[in-house]
Amino acid sequence: MAVPKKKISKSRRNMRRSHHAVPVMAFIECKNCGELKRPHMVCSHCGYYREDMPVLADATSAEK
Ligand SMILES: [Zn+2]
Repeated sequence: MAVPKKKISKSRRNMRRSHHAVPVMAFIECKNCGELKRPHMVCSHCGYYREDMPVLADATSAEK
C-alpha cells in the first residue's frame, strides 16, 4: 500500500482544506409573496417570475 513519504504539517493540511467550505447559496425576496427565492428563477412558492414576463404554464395545465 502506498504510504505518504512525509507528514503533512497542520499548515499544509489547513491550506488544502481552505477550499472545502460550503458556498453560501444566493437568495432574494420574491417581489410577489416575499418568500425567499433563487435569483433568475421562478418562485417556488407562488410561481411568480416577473411583472412583464408571466409564467404561462403552471403545474396543473402542463398535465393536460
Ligand atoms: Zn413568490
